[in-house]
Amino acid sequence: MAFFRNLSKFSAIKASSSSRLRKTDPFLLSSFTWLSHFSTKLSDETPSLKPVRYSGLDPTKSHEKPRVVVLGSGWAGCRLMKGLDPKIYDIVCVSPRNHMVFTPLLASTCVGTLEFRSVAEPIARIQPAISREPGSYFFLANCTGIDAKKHVVHCEAVTDEIQTPDPWRFSITYDKLVIALGAQPSTFGIQGVNEHAIFLREVNHAQEIRRKLLLNLMLSDVPGVSQEEKGRLLHCVVVGGGPTGVEFSGELSDFIMRDVRQRYSHVKDYIHVTLIEANEILSSFDDRLRRYAVKQLTKSGVRLVRGVVKDVKADKIILDNGTEVPYGLLVWSTGVGPSPIIQSLDLPKAPGGRIGVDEWLRVPSVQDVFSIGDCSGYVESTGKPTLPALAQVAERQGKYLAKLLNKIGEAGGGRADSAKDIEFGEPFVYRHLGSMATLGRFRALVDLREDKDAKGISLAGFVSWFIWRSAYLTRVVSWRNRFYVAINWATTFVFGRDISRI
Ligand SMILES: Cc1cc2nc3c(=O)[nH]c(=O)nc-3n(C[C@H](O)[C@H](O)[C@H](O)COP(=O)(O)OP(=O)(O)OC[C@H]3O[C@@H](n4cnc5c(N)ncnc54)[C@H](O)[C@@H]3O)c2cc1C
Repeated sequence: MAFFRNLSKFSAIKASSSSRLRKTDPFLLSSFTWLSHFSTKLSDETPSLKPVRYSGLDPTKSHEKPRVVVLGSGWAGCRLMKGLDPKIYDIVCVSPRNHMVFTPLLASTCVGTLEFRSVAEPIARIQPAISREPGSYFFLANCTGIDAKKHVVHCEAVTDEIQTPDPWRFSITYDKLVIALGAQPSTFGIQGVNEHAIFLREVNHAQEIRRKLLLNLMLSDVPGVSQEEKGRLLHCVVVGGGPTGVEFSGELSDFIMRDVRQRYSHVKDYIHVTLIEANEILSSFDDRLRRYAVKQLTKSGVRLVRGVVKDVKADKIILDNGTEVPYGLLVWSTGVGPSPIIQSLDLPKAPGGRIGVDEWLRVPSVQDVFSIGDCSGYVESTGKPTLPALAQVAERQGKYLAKLLNKIGEAGGGRADSAKDIEFGEPFVYRHLGSMATLGRFRALVDLREDKDAKGISLAGFVSWFIWRSAYLTRVVSWRNRFYVAINWATTFVFGRDISRI
């Protein structure tokens, strides 16, 4: 909604023909009708049939608050926005999704343990100023480029199904820019991954996995389907034995043992989970916890295969030793790397291709640009290692930067190019609080040590599972979602998972 609010701030608009818009989303249509009430400069006098084009948000004026533009609505961007003081700054967020995903619980939504809405937190709840303050906005759009010299971000609105001959482009001038664009799944250039595998990063990925899993269950029950085809359809392959791959495999095996056996008894003997990993599973955990995880997963029926995927076809994957593994569902979870937008930005880079930052999370050599979360890493000159791609890193960077920006704003350095003489204070320091992973069947691993060789608490089993659940329930961002999660867990425990394919 914020996208079209206060459009007097947008300097040039050209509306396309109403006949074209009539085919589009009613919300957008009404917004455009309303939009035409504002004084706008038409960039082309010829009526209709030209793409809608905005020039965007101009530089802030002296009577306005300085503007912080946040790119991305993930862990880093949302924690930052939550901490920013809307009395000091106008906040503008650009992201292709209007919610934050609580990723640690995403795997549970794939099999119906949790509902999708329980892990999606609307941005306007995280930072209400976005929908209340006249100069703050959320734009459903992708950032397509940054001109750091001019303090301008270029964007393209997400139009989904709406038929437009051209993308809707606009630009935003910032006083401070925070790049929190996350990362993208690594495919290592293996052919067929993008086409045939499903990643697990967004709510729509979890929805796709759930639909495919339930579809395959129902297809395999159709009369005439051969035994071989049943086996293929019901073979769920997970590639990548990190925490996400292991948690998803655990959830799936739990779903099979508890729900499929009861409610799809005709095909219960055909459904299997295979987890393929090139090295050790859960390599960030110590040997004892890893051995426990292997034992538990095997006990739950997950087949662990050591291998390297060479090629992915529509119905089978081929390993480097030539083994062919037929599948009905393929989930790819082999870590992350810089996304194309990060690679394309003309900014200093850290080893590994992330955006380079100094100890204060500033991007060196440009003014007023910061970067946090999975998309950023320390430049080599800091001598610091790249931090892991974890929510706890992203979240704490967001929290730190919000405080820093508030401090800068209070000291009068909120405007573009005005913070040069301001003392930034303590740099960002990361201390690892530990790792957790659930294995399904009321079992989990909890390692509260700074690293796997340090002294401290590390547990495996039911108590860990209880700690895992309690910890994440308290970490869920809002009371609304905390309530949803608790209710979903209770409902699943009593009635089993929801297996309707909606
Ligand atoms: C299934 C799963 C489970 C996980 N479990 C854990 C866990 O238990 N513990 C833990 O610490 N970490 C966990 N992680 C890792 C954690 O989620 C990430 O490290 C964290 O999300 C990084 O936050 P971020 O803000 O940098 O990126 P993201 O959260 O990925 O957010 C990036 C944002 O940028 C937006 N974006 C992308 N491209 C553009 C563009 N061109 N323009 C504008 N916006 C754009 C995206 O839509 C998104 O809103 C898990 C990850 C996954 C996928």
